[in-house]
Amino acid sequence: MTTHCRICNGNLMEFFDFGEMPIANGFLAPEEYKDEYFYCMKVGYCPVCSMVQLIDQPERERMFHDHYAFFSSTSAFMALHFRQLAEIILERFPNPDPFIVELGSNDGILLQNFAKKDIKHIGVEPSGNVAQVAIEKGINTISTFFDDATAENIRDEYGNASAIIAANVMCHIPDLHSVVRGMKKLLRSDGVIIMEDPNLGDILEKTSYDQIYDEHVFYFSLLSLSNLFSRYDLEIFDLEHLNVHGGSMRYFISHKGKYPISEAVKSQAAKEKMMNLSSPDPYHQLKNNIEKSRDQLLKILRQLKKENKRVVGYAATSKSTTVINYCGITPELVEFISDTTPIKQGKFSPGGHIPVRSHDLFKQNYPDYALLFGWNHSEEIMKNEREFRNAGGKWIVYVPRVEIL
Ligand code: ZN
Repeated sequence: MTTHCRICNGNLMEFFDFGEMPIANGFLAPEEYKDEYFYCMKVGYCPVCSMVQLIDQPERERMFHDHYAFFSSTSAFMALHFRQLAEIILERFPNPDPFIVELGSNDGILLQNFAKKDIKHIGVEPSGNVAQVAIEKGINTISTFFDDATAENIRDEYGNASAIIAANVMCHIPDLHSVVRGMKKLLRSDGVIIMEDPNLGDILEKTSYDQIYDEHVFYFSLLSLSNLFSRYDLEIFDLEHLNVHGGSMRYFISHKGKYPISEAVKSQAAKEKMMNLSSPDPYHQLKNNIEKSRDQLLKILRQLKKENKRVVGYAATSKSTTVINYCGITPELVEFISDTTPIKQGKFSPGGHIPVRSHDLFKQNYPDYALLFGWNHSEEIMKNEREFRNAGGKWIVYVPRVEIL
């Protein structure tokens, strides 16, 4: 069966099959094991528009619902990141009558910076319980998915937006046409769209295959996004590489011809041309690297098991679900996963059923090794966990390469 590109309807070329995968954020109790949902996780690229994407994705209601456990504000690092983004919006694109719209506004981690200054704003957040947290903080939020119709409703009630922000959101949405059409309608003539998402180039360079999971339907490059936005007479005029989420790109987009195209855009385009993203080559290489990464990680974990060393997972991230299930990591190899999110503690990891325990338990009895599932926050984590190192603990990391630190 041929599957078609969600953007241009071209024939997708599959390049990796991860096998059966559970919902990445589906932390669960043992009585729920019998109903646990699995799907086939395969990725492909489109030779026509270069968009890399999941071949099949679970229904979004299975992934984003009222039990959704991710709250942005639990990370001090992310709070700082979004405060700086708010400053960029206000300083680089000053506007006498700003109106900020954010897609996937989570618990208001970005919009609180505007709310504090009494700047007109609205957040669109599909997870009901997360939206409620934002509303209680005084952030104007509606709980729905952003699409063409939502954009029209916002425009009719509040007027056009001076800035539309989508941070780590666009890559989650299968029907991007409806979103971009909505953005086009909602954006003022001099308005700017700012989006941030994991960058395909980073995944290829760092073999960070754990970026690939059910919620991320797309893996963007400048090339694939330019193809998409140009269909709506929008264009990417600037970009900036970010270290968040393991390597992301921040894109600045406007109505066509409104802003000069930056040098950064030109040099990224040249870099991607070298990577040959419309050909099978980079994906074939990624496949080899993923298999090598799995073999090396399993070798270490099995060896440590033989030596009777204690290994604990650090951070029960969505990303960890791909690694645990693809590599076949079991509770025999990893005793438990330490996590600070109360809603996950006492539950078990999706598929692999590794117990999730409080961070206190990690601190009370340090293991010999900690497998760093939250590698994208490694700097922040390693700084906070100096005592673990001082007590003789070692980190196992697998991005950009498998090693013990
Ligand atoms: Zn395509």
